[in-house]
Amino acid sequence: MASVAIHPAVDGGIKKGNAGFGGGRLRCHCATDAVEIRVDSQVAHNHACGCTKCWKPSGAVFSVVGVVPRDKLSITAHGEKLMVVDASATIQRHACKVCGTHMFGRIENKAHPFYGLDFIHTELSPDEGWEGPGFAGFVASVIESGTPPSAMPGIRARLNELGLPAYDCLSPALMEAISTHVAKSKGLL
Ligand SMILES: [Zn+2]
Ligand SMILES: [Zn+2]
Repeated sequence: MASVAIHPAVDGGIKKGNAGFGGGRLRCHCATDAVEIRVDSQVAHNHACGCTKCWKPSGAVFSVVGVVPRDKLSITAHGEKLMVVDASATIQRHACKVCGTHMFGRIENKAHPFYGLDFIHTELSPDEGWEGPGFAGFVASVIESGTPPSAMPGIRARLNELGLPAYDCLSPALMEAISTHVAKSKGLL
């Protein structure tokens, strides 16, 4: 099963975060004048994502993406190189114009259940201590990127072997958080 590649950051096993880790720097792939952001928080809900929108390194089937409070994220170098990939998307992904790396995704709709959280890819950080992914989301969606359906049993088995429960939307905790937000906004809870 180890021959089924998921993402370079998980193929060798899942990294556990360091207790007390308070965040670090993330840099784009440019060799010079790299965009740098600073995150003063551990990542939460880190997961492998099979959707077609999340940035992933070339050749990877999944992205690895998690969230941090938006007020804990700051742009520390070469913010002038950032552009929003798709301004109409729910998550506005701020990417380096030169190398294409997505530095962070931000939700501007204040009514959205995940408003206040920014999406980041901790593999862009040279700092050690980030919590590794805890599940895989949107697993079936890798087919939309050209993965043959016949590869899915092997992918699901490899995710299971890595200790990443495979879901075809988000994890139960996140789906319940979304539904709680919806119910509260309707006055039902
Ligand atoms: Zn770049
Ligand atoms: Zn995704």
